[in-house]
Amino acid sequence: MNHSYWDKALFPDCAQLVVVGGGIVGLSAAIHAKMANPSRSVVLLEKGLTPAGASSKNAGFACFGSLSEIIDDLEHSDEQQVVALIKKRWEGISYLLKLAGKENIAYEASGGFEVFTPDLCNLHAACVEHMDYINHILKPVFGEIVFSSDDRRLEYFGLKGFDHMISNRFEGQLNAAKMLQALIRTARQKGVYVVCGAEVSNWEELPAGIQVFLSSGQEIKCEQLLLATNGFTGNLIPGLDVRPTRAQVLITEPVEGLRLKGAFHMDRGYYYFRDVDGRVLLGGARNLAINEEFTTDTDTSSFIQNHLQLFLNQHILPDCDTHIDMRWTGLMGTGATKEPIVEKITNRLGVAVRLGGMGVAIGTIVGKEAAAMMER
Ligand SMILES: Cc1cc2nc3c(=O)[nH]c(=O)nc-3n(C[C@H](O)[C@H](O)[C@H](O)COP(=O)(O)OP(=O)(O)OC[C@H]3O[C@@H](n4cnc5c(N)ncnc54)[C@H](O)[C@@H]3O)c2cc1C
Repeated sequence: MNHSYWDKALFPDCAQLVVVGGGIVGLSAAIHAKMANPSRSVVLLEKGLTPAGASSKNAGFACFGSLSEIIDDLEHSDEQQVVALIKKRWEGISYLLKLAGKENIAYEASGGFEVFTPDLCNLHAACVEHMDYINHILKPVFGEIVFSSDDRRLEYFGLKGFDHMISNRFEGQLNAAKMLQALIRTARQKGVYVVCGAEVSNWEELPAGIQVFLSSGQEIKCEQLLLATNGFTGNLIPGLDVRPTRAQVLITEPVEGLRLKGAFHMDRGYYYFRDVDGRVLLGGARNLAINEEFTTDTDTSSFIQNHLQLFLNQHILPDCDTHIDMRWTGLMGTGATKEPIVEKITNRLGVAVRLGGMGVAIGTIVGKEAAAMMER
């Protein structure tokens, strides 16, 4: 390494903390590490020129679970765990709005809606049956009724081929790019060295610290290393229960007179759509090819994309000749449970990963927890 006297002022010789991953969790962890100790040297390494993970590929729902998804969760986890996770998501949304600034991320309290096609009539019946009970267990979190039947408004949104709708006025939507811009700005303002285009290939734990190796051949020394690499974690630490899980999205060209407004879900959260900048963003259908979508392959698949387009034409924009502007995929980290993994692997190495499908909601809180964990 050819370092000058001046380089030492530009970049720490040995960072006190290196965070790998510039998504919502990594950025939040770096910000909180600085907030707890402003004199600490914190470096954030992101492999993409811009954050390349789920945080820049998501749908921008500020959500905490549709009714059918909560019912599904209650079949796999106990009531206390399910309510605790919903509470964490709800508090996480408020915390994100505070940390990044409501206006900075174009947050809209547009409400959330779950729609049901005729073939989902059993799921709808289960939702109606459990609605009072779920509203009751969520009362301590929200203080009010969360879910209510809202079939009347289906027509108002211009939707077709749905029999029923359940609404939830606590949900909202945001602009994911603005969210990342705001968090990067905050991190830099607090003195975090945010370095993009820096892919970590490996590291070695030494008696006095950790040597971090980049794919470019460069090396960085640090006292502690935190991996916030979500679905990519298996490349760096094999063996953790974090499954790379692809999710696919499309967005239309602007639609004249678009009536859709809000964050819409269907079938336990497997489908989601919203309005954004006068367009429709639609994603999901992962349940149609569940095993194929456990992959790190970032290409779109024609099977899912064709299905999404058909769904769009049949249900969301039935009377329009709509053009698709963009299609993309994002990589989530999923596992046996929906709880993220925030733990120390060794004294110097920690992970904050497996954010699942609602990481926008909990990402800033998970980052805060991870920063506190590294302090201990
Ligand atoms: C299509 C899609 C739609 C979604 N919709 C929503 C939604 O509407 N609402 C919601 O709450 N959640 C949603 N999610 C989930 C949410 O986006 C994620 O849970 C959240 O963004 C995860 O944040 P993260 O920081 O943990 O991970 P990521 O954003 O994936 O960040 C990990 C970062 O690590 C970087 N990285 C990985 N390996 C390395 C390495 N070796 N060296 C350097 N950098 C590395 C990656 O480039 C990436 O930027 C969606 C996800 C997808 C894919």
